[in-house]
Order: sequence, then C-alpha cells, then structure tokens
Amino acid sequence: MPSAMIFLFDTCTSKCAYCGHATSGKVLDNTQLTPYRDRSLIDRFLGFFERRTDAENKWLLMLLGGEPLLMPNLDHFIERTHAAGNRTALYTSLNIGSNHKSYRYLLGCDPEAVDYIMASFHPEADDFEDRFFEMMAALKQHGHKVIFRFIAHPLRLYRMEDLHRKCRDMDICFSPYAYCSANYPLGYTPEDRTIIERYTTNYSQVVQMENGLAVQRLTCEAGEKLLYINARDGKIFPCPNVFNRAIGNVYDDYLEPKKGRGCYDMSTRCFCDINFQQNHVAGLDDSANFAAEKAGYVAPAVHADLRAELAAKGFSFHEHSHRKTLGENSADDKLVMTKSEVKQVFEQNRDFYHGDFRKNFHPVFRKSGGEQ
Ligand code: SF4
Repeated sequence: MPSAMIFLFDTCTSKCAYCGHATSGKVLDNTQLTPYRDRSLIDRFLGFFERRTDAENKWLLMLLGGEPLLMPNLDHFIERTHAAGNRTALYTSLNIGSNHKSYRYLLGCDPEAVDYIMASFHPEADDFEDRFFEMMAALKQHGHKVIFRFIAHPLRLYRMEDLHRKCRDMDICFSPYAYCSANYPLGYTPEDRTIIERYTTNYSQVVQMENGLAVQRLTCEAGEKLLYINARDGKIFPCPNVFNRAIGNVYDDYLEPKKGRGCYDMSTRCFCDINFQQNHVAGLDDSANFAAEKAGYVAPAVHADLRAELAAKGFSFHEHSHRKTLGENSADDKLVMTKSEVKQVFEQNRDFYHGDFRKNFHPVFRKSGGEQ
C-alpha cells in the first residue's frame, strides 16, 4: 500500500506527536492553523492522491504533526480520504482534552476510515495519565486500532514496566521506540538497552535501537509508494530520512518519476519505523508485526533474536551519530517545557511565522491563510 507522511505545523512546545521530546524552540502561533480552515486547500491537497488512487494503489495518509488533532477540518480530511478509497492514520499525544472537537469526532466517525491511531505518551502526559488511558480506552471501544507509543528517553525508562502493564491490561500494544538526538540512540548505556529491549515487539524498534540501517545496499519504494510531505510548502521528499532534494509538490500536482531502487541519499540512515511497518524497504517487512500491534496487546519478542534475523538477512547498521532525521530532539536533558519557558519562546518568536519563514509557504497555502 502506498503511504505518505504529512507534516502540518509546529505545535505549542514544538513537540511532534511522532517524536515526543523535541524542544527546538518554535511555539505554536495559532494563525498557523488558519489555512486548514479552508476546505478548498484540503481538497487540493487530497486531489494529488485521488488522481493517483486506483484498485491497486490505495493510499495511507499519515498525519504526523504537529498535533494533528488540532488541525481544523480534520473530519473533512478523514472523510474525503475515505470516500476516495484511501485511509488516514493519526499520530497524537492526546494532549487536547476529552471534549475537543476532533476527539469527539473520532468517537463518532466510521473507524474504518482511520487505519490506526498512534497514541504517543509524552512526559507531560504523566500529569494527565488517567485521562490519557481513558481516552485510549474510549477510542478502542469505538473500534479504532490504538497503539501506545513510548519514546524511550533515558530519563523515562523507569516508567516502562508500569505503562506496559497498564497497556497489557487494556489489550493495547505497548510499543517503545529509541530516543533520537545527536547523542542517542548510540549513547544508551548497556543497562538502558537491557531495559528497553525487554519490551521489543517489532523489527523497526530493533533498527532504531541500532541507529538505523546503513543504506548503501538497500532498495526501496521511497519516492514512489512512500512519500514525505510538508503541507505548508507542499514539497514532497522521498521518505522521512531524505531531505536533500524535493522530488515533487502536491499543490502543483507534480511527482518526478522514480529512477532506480537505491537510496536517494547515500549519506543518510534508514531510520523511520514507518519505512518498515509499511513494507517499503526490500527484505525488511515489518507489516505482520505491525498488524498484530494494531489488533491489540503483543507480548514482547526476544530483541536479540530479531537483531540476529536482520543480520542473517545481510542488513547492517549506520555507525555514526546522524543529524536531521525526522523525530530528532535538540535537548537531551529537557523533558517538558514549563509554561514560562513556552511564553518566553513565544515572545522570542512572536513574528516567526509572519516573517521570512512565510515566504517558504506555497502560494496556495499562503492564500488560504488570507494572504493575497
Ligand atoms: S532512507 Fe529512504 S530512500 Fe533511503 S533506503 Fe531508506 S526509505 Fe529508501
């Protein structure tokens, strides 16, 4: 199934629901949401996929972040996607409150329209943990496939057993992923690794703990059946680990033909779990494990066995620290931004989205934001 990962806007503490702990310093200015109030923008965006949908190609559109449940017209996005024969997946921190319009919508919509909901438990969720689990339970009760995502920050490993047990009791998969920064995952101590690897449920987690795959001998479907898109400028990149060159634009309805099967960037690492869960990298099909995770609780596998299987298949791992991977965090010692820090950064960046940054937006997006 072809899949596209979609970045929408920066959220309030710059924490993408996918990665969890970023503190890069941009703060939500809610005028960022304005373009999405215009349904014609969403229709134009989705039209790109509708023209490329047929009996064999049904797209999975994955809304990564910032927090997709903040997006105006999320209901329209999901329903129009489904009507065209495609599906949406959502990566959310559930930090929106149980009365939020998007959450209420998800409790009433056709669950078939949503392939899965990845509920990412961020450090600040400790303060509303009961509500987080209640919200997951209600989504599951409605028929959604919910996975509990946990980013294994070295300062958060003490939480894993308790959260794993709670997920197991609710028949929801506890799915931990490596923390990613300039220092991690290579910086994990052997003790850290022992704890994290106790909860491994799929190959993608192994790949991330090993710092990603070396790309030199990989072949994949990136740039054709796997796309990464920034909804603000419309640019299409081959995958979430390659940003050296845009290969198309959704608003211009353009995607260059794929040439060859090798990696688009020999200096990168193949790191994103979605690459494998959606079976886009030859020889590393994690889709069966992922399907089991969507269905409910999965008992952990033996991490060393999965790693040995990957080695036996000839995969090798990226050896060096790597920057600019989607999901990378900028401050290892920072788990949660305080309100005063958020206010301070907001004041620093008050004009950020209205200045030169805005020039990067696609004209169609700018126009939907009210600019002539
Ligand atoms: S990093 Fe992207 S382009 Fe390279 S092998 Fe992996 S999926 Fe393909």
